[in-house]
Amino acid sequence: MAKIHVLDKHVAELIAAGEVVERPSSVIKELVENSIDAGASIVTVEIRRGGVTYMRVTDNGCGISREDVATAFLRHATSKVREKDDLDAILTLGFRGEALASISAVAHVDLITKTADSEIGTHYASSGGSDIQIEDAGCPNGTTITVRDIFYNVPARMKFLKKDTAEGNAVAGLMDKIALSHPEISFRLIREGKETLHTPGDGKLVSAIYAVFGKEFSTNLLPVDYALGGVRVWGFISSPLGSRPNRSMQNFFINGRFVRSRTAAVALEEAYKGSIMVGKFPACVLHLELSSAAVDVNVHPAKLEVRFVNERPVFDAVYHGVKSALSASREMKSIDLTA
Ligand code: ADP
Ligand code: MG
Repeated sequence: MAKIHVLDKHVAELIAAGEVVERPSSVIKELVENSIDAGASIVTVEIRRGGVTYMRVTDNGCGISREDVATAFLRHATSKVREKDDLDAILTLGFRGEALASISAVAHVDLITKTADSEIGTHYASSGGSDIQIEDAGCPNGTTITVRDIFYNVPARMKFLKKDTAEGNAVAGLMDKIALSHPEISFRLIREGKETLHTPGDGKLVSAIYAVFGKEFSTNLLPVDYALGGVRVWGFISSPLGSRPNRSMQNFFINGRFVRSRTAAVALEEAYKGSIMVGKFPACVLHLELSSAAVDVNVHPAKLEVRFVNERPVFDAVYHGVKSALSASREMKSIDLTA
């Protein structure tokens, strides 16, 4: 008897879902990125029990038209990429067409959406990807998606969830990064009924930093705005007095995405050599902008890692950008003293 068989569609779907949906924060990441890609200027996230029983993301973005709603939940269904060549120049946060399919496979989902040019909105509901219902809904322009009881149908996964507080903390940490990556969007997080984050969305990075990290952190910052070799670096770094005991406050964003970049972190610390004490670390919120052809975001679904075609220009731009911000601040001080 043959031992090898193609997996049943339902089982294959659950395995694929596991690639994208690991915990509540991975769901929130995908949903909020969809809201950003939809051009929203206001995004509200609500979670209960750390997101495990309830997550809701509301945006005022472009919405989904009735004829597209069911397709949006199919695997590899996306409005963001059409041809192979599109993969070389991705301008949106999403592009795999996997998030809604994966999330709906492992939770109860309700989506209410309306585009500006339609009179009436659409309500889509499903449980574990089945029992799909679509009906009319009166609603404002934009999209609200509610995800309940993540992994209710995958007990093996449920077991790996941490305590509600830890899951909620992961969502909160993620929302901080997202808020810093898009100062032009107003983000709100409501956690167990309490508002814990609210950025104004006035387009100023410093306003987002203030909302996320508070007053003390925001008063010890030096501005950076520098361009070199096709890489623009802008944002804020800690003044030498504001250095930290560890690296946890080093935030880098590439083309609007929070990333971990060893190259950028090393360049930052090199630039501070001689300015701060050994054993202390600089903090930063730095945005890097470079041609989308120079960076590959197609590495992993969680997309935290990016690959640069060339590391050197990234290192140089960060290093010299930070160096010049530090020396500009020293000059300012000497002027102050003589004044
Ligand atoms: P991807 O983001 O990779 O395209 P998703 O599964 O996340 O895949 O979403 C599928 C499609 O559904 C998107 O391409 C988009 O057209 C639509 N969509 C999802 N969320 C929203 C939203 N909040 N507002 C408008 N359209 C959305
Ligand atoms: Mg998406």
